[in-house]
Amino acid sequence: MLHSLPRPLPSNVADPYAAMLEGLLDAVWLVDGRTRCILAVNGAALRLSGLTAEQLVGQTVEALASTPEDAMFWMDAASDTRASLHSDTLMRHADGSLLWVTRRISYFAAGPQVADGYWLVAMRDQTQRRQSEDEREVLVAELQATLESTADGILVVDLLGQMRSCNRRFALLWAIPADLLQQRDDAAVQSWMRCSVLEPEAYLLRLSTIQATPLQESSDVIKLTDGRVLERVSLPQLSRGRAAGRVFSFRDLSEKLAASQRIAELSHSDMLTGLPNRRALAERVELAQAIGRRENMPFALLNVDLDRFKQINDTLGNAYGDRVLKEAAERLKACTREVDMVARLGGDEFALLIHQADMRGGEQAARRVQEAMSRPFSFDTLSFTVTCSTGIALFPADGASADALMASAERAMHWVKESGRGTFHFHQPRKDIDLLSRMRLDHAMRQALHEGQFRLHYQPQISLASGKVIGAEALIRWRDPLRGEISPGEFIPVAEESGFIVAIGEWVLQQAVEQAATWLRQGWPMPVAINVSALQFQQSQFADSVAFALRSSGLPPELLELELTESILVGDADEALQRLQALAALGVGMSIDDFGTGYSSLAYLKRFPIQRLKIDRSFIQGLPGDASDAGIVNAIIQMGRALRLQVIAEGVETQAQRDFLARAGCDEFQGFLYAPALDPRAFEERVWRPASEPLRAMPRLAGGFLA
Ligand code: C2E
Ligand code: CA
Ligand code: CA
Repeated sequence: MLHSLPRPLPSNVADPYAAMLEGLLDAVWLVDGRTRCILAVNGAALRLSGLTAEQLVGQTVEALASTPEDAMFWMDAASDTRASLHSDTLMRHADGSLLWVTRRISYFAAGPQVADGYWLVAMRDQTQRRQSEDEREVLVAELQATLESTADGILVVDLLGQMRSCNRRFALLWAIPADLLQQRDDAAVQSWMRCSVLEPEAYLLRLSTIQATPLQESSDVIKLTDGRVLERVSLPQLSRGRAAGRVFSFRDLSEKLAASQRIAELSHSDMLTGLPNRRALAERVELAQAIGRRENMPFALLNVDLDRFKQINDTLGNAYGDRVLKEAAERLKACTREVDMVARLGGDEFALLIHQADMRGGEQAARRVQEAMSRPFSFDTLSFTVTCSTGIALFPADGASADALMASAERAMHWVKESGRGTFHFHQPRKDIDLLSRMRLDHAMRQALHEGQFRLHYQPQISLASGKVIGAEALIRWRDPLRGEISPGEFIPVAEESGFIVAIGEWVLQQAVEQAATWLRQGWPMPVAINVSALQFQQSQFADSVAFALRSSGLPPELLELELTESILVGDADEALQRLQALAALGVGMSIDDFGTGYSSLAYLKRFPIQRLKIDRSFIQGLPGDASDAGIVNAIIQMGRALRLQVIAEGVETQAQRDFLARAGCDEFQGFLYAPALDPRAFEERVWRPASEPLRAMPRLAGGFLA
């Protein structure tokens, strides 16, 4: 109902508007322009003010103003000639509380003068919105204050690397001129930072890696040209679970480093293992060089780095990590003579100084190291293997100073890491994959994908019981027009480091699924396994893209298998488990690749929805003669049995290896003995149209064998 004054409205106003006023959702007053008295109000207006109709109607609008500004507003409104006016104001409710309202005043004339007309005042409560805005302002101010009060330099960038905000400490640490920041000249700030670092190339590469992996955390140190060292930590900035940008924090480590260096200088040995440290080793190497020069005596320096040690630390905890390091130190000592020296260089990196050793002596020492480390480590109920990568430098060929020789050994070790870990290698200047060539390789890879230079080859997998081909592993091949064939052992690690593996992996998935679907259409169901890198597995949309590939090709999920490595467990094991379950729900098969090289805990194998273990090639090599390889292979097969998992061996090259595996109860194998990875045409020739052998494919399927 319309609450109105006893004095009737002019007939041309009252009736048409009465019903309309009540129907409005907003609180509405109808005001006489001449007297500025309220003529009528609707129910919403009563609720908004908490006043009765009697209290409102007949009042002047000024009298209802809650603030002096509002009273002024009404004065001005009277002389305003615009058709409508908009304002935000505070209004007092009858209960004393203040409300924020937005208000719109529309004029409509009823005579020649503006004042002759009427005003329709519509109001809406905005208190809640206003409050959350105020809260947000307070929050932003608080954040800004926090940002300014931290001792770290903070820089926030968006996904494209454009600066969003930074604090003063950031500008101070990087000594960025104030005007660059004021102008918000991103390019200038970035080039300033680039020019301040000691190794701009490495810095840029690292930065592009960080940007290419928007969900990863990272931390590293940056050396500046002025001698200072900055620690850089970067965290993804998430918005509703998606990457929205990145927060970098920088801290000046120079003082801390100087202090810890002094402490290290005070003691020459490593606390954890009791081994001499890098400094002590350097002194001994110098001495050996002096003697070696005088007496023409060669010696070898080995750099030994445990493989995937970080994974042990991350998954089993630091206490286990420490035990592994101590045990490793003991084993290394046991494979050197009294006169030689074993040092711990830091982390999981050791060095061995082998006196009176030439190339042969160096190699023998490296073999002793591999042998010593290949025995399983057993603590409490856990048993796992730890492989290591060894780089060998020889005096005098590989370095005249201690630093140079140690650097050569370290480079050789890195080369081993890059080409697959778990073995040793001599320093060879030609083979160093330096940073620049890695950047070139990364660039060439991106072009290669674009230009379709990648292909997939398929390596048959054979049942040891029936001798039939039951599946195929897809392996990527790349022929560069200039460089020729490039091995995946060379470019996959670079792609993993730069994050480009995600794009490659996506291509492999589509390609392999299409191939398997084509074979199926031709009447040859052939399960195809693809290699999935940890980074690819960790992408949030990975399961979706597998589902999509299956759906768009029409391939039944049981004809696809994902080969995962234990490194997918790095980080959050529960999250990995969830991902695995999502993939299992799609119906695809899953196996653990390179089994035995990571840490092998029964605990997680039991929890994971996998069907197969693939014994790494490095354990097959020594079969059947090598007792430790034989022991490990037997143990893996038995473990697989106990967990009801299929076991496949890779890299089988000889009949003797095959026989050993068959006797040990292994289910399947792949390797050069049967065939290397073949292009699809050659695969078809070999498997379905064998010229001599009457061998027919018998695909392995989830529920048994296809006829
Ligand atoms: P992997 O998954 O352990 O693959 C087995 C490697 O052993 C392949 O090397 C294969 O050609 C080789 N091989 C097979 N049988 C024998 C044998 O009897 N003797 C010897 N000596 N070697 C054998 P390849 O193709 O050079 O691949 C090297 C690694 O590169 C693979 O190791 C895998 O980690 C990675 N890789 C290859 N293709 C892909 C891919 O599509 N995606 C991902 N993420 N990684 C891939
Ligand atoms: Ca594989
Ligand atoms: Ca392998």
